[in-house]
Amino acid sequence: MSKLFVEQFKEEIYRCIRCGYCRDFSRYRDSAYRVCPLRENDATPGFEPYSARGRLMLIRFVLEGKLQLNEKLADLFYTCPTCRNCWDKCYVAQTRLKGKNMINQVEIYEAFRHDLFKAGLISPRHKQILEWTVKEHNPYLEKHEDRIKWVPAGVEPPPTKSDVMYFVGCTSSYRQKNIAAATLSLLRKAGINVGVLYPDEWCCGSPMLRIGHRELAKELAEHNIAALEKAGAKMVVFSCAGCYRAFKVDYPALGIEPPFELKHAIDLALELLDQGKLSIKKDFKAKVTLHDPCHTGRHLVHIKAELYDQPREVIKRIPGIEFVEMERIRRNSWCCGAGGGLRSYNADISLALAKNRVKEAERTGADVLTSICPFCYRNLSDAIKLSGSNMKMYDLVEILDMVTE
Ligand code: SF4
Ligand code: SF4
Repeated sequence: MSKLFVEQFKEEIYRCIRCGYCRDFSRYRDSAYRVCPLRENDATPGFEPYSARGRLMLIRFVLEGKLQLNEKLADLFYTCPTCRNCWDKCYVAQTRLKGKNMINQVEIYEAFRHDLFKAGLISPRHKQILEWTVKEHNPYLEKHEDRIKWVPAGVEPPPTKSDVMYFVGCTSSYRQKNIAAATLSLLRKAGINVGVLYPDEWCCGSPMLRIGHRELAKELAEHNIAALEKAGAKMVVFSCAGCYRAFKVDYPALGIEPPFELKHAIDLALELLDQGKLSIKKDFKAKVTLHDPCHTGRHLVHIKAELYDQPREVIKRIPGIEFVEMERIRRNSWCCGAGGGLRSYNADISLALAKNRVKEAERTGADVLTSICPFCYRNLSDAIKLSGSNMKMYDLVEILDMVTE
């Protein structure tokens, strides 16, 4: 067998001391505290290979030649939303134990997925997504020419060149058009002549990296960066946590440093409120709870760019909101189940995870669930419908757009 891509992480993989904090963190908290949303999934509670400890052991077996790459192994590794909670708890525990056990679990899983992809062990659905993205630049099996159709009727389309460019992303372009429309409206209210790459915006490449096709992800990244440079961007704004993380973390890891300021829309909105360029004029009367996306949270903690305070600060400024927190928030946020290619790989498990998060939101007594990612929005709102919940889902940009003039 030729050298596996995951071998570059061999030292880290062998650092796992099988302490189990990536499964159960209750020794550091008062109440029982579980870590892996998959391992705690109702359908497969306690399934060891779902946790980081189990996954790392399996990769060790492969590296030692005791296990060959096979479909069961592929299924196991593609069944993970890459929420990064195992990394977080492993890191916290090992730091407290004064060890030097830094293990980048999600990077290891994704490197292993690259090996699985190279071995042809991807699902037909993921294969279709990759082929479609080459052809039409999006993973939703939609036509590229329809990408701009999120602009509401009667609204002037944004220019294609500006120093502030909005990178819409595939999910908001094709599925959660409400979030793209609200972001455009909000930025215009603040007097920003925001541009959108059309017809040059392509998928950010995040799904390709999550599936394991690193070469395609790099091609998409290079295209998007060149197009944004050509459009004259000095700042690029994102309403999607996945695209934002791709530009902030994945592009540099692929050797591409974006030469612009990168801003999540909610971070920019808070600055605009502070500068008086946006004013809140209306109440939003509701009991609201907030879901922290993994991609604007744990995935950005290591570069100190996590967005935990900003959405809470925005919520605090909106009159009429009674804000209630869920039990698991910020670095302990429980994943919505959509990420890591899981929603397209196994929608049943992905939605089962989302239903667990909706139950947690309901326990707060809130009637509105909000977040800052169209992909979280999609999974959580689907889970709300499927579980017959009365909660309403809004992106925080939508709420802000409703209360500003
Ligand atoms: S917490 Fe880290 S070191 Fe401990 S078992 Fe999990 S992956 Fe291994
Ligand atoms: S990334 Fe999340 S779902 Fe995947 S193994 Fe780690 S804790 Fe479990």
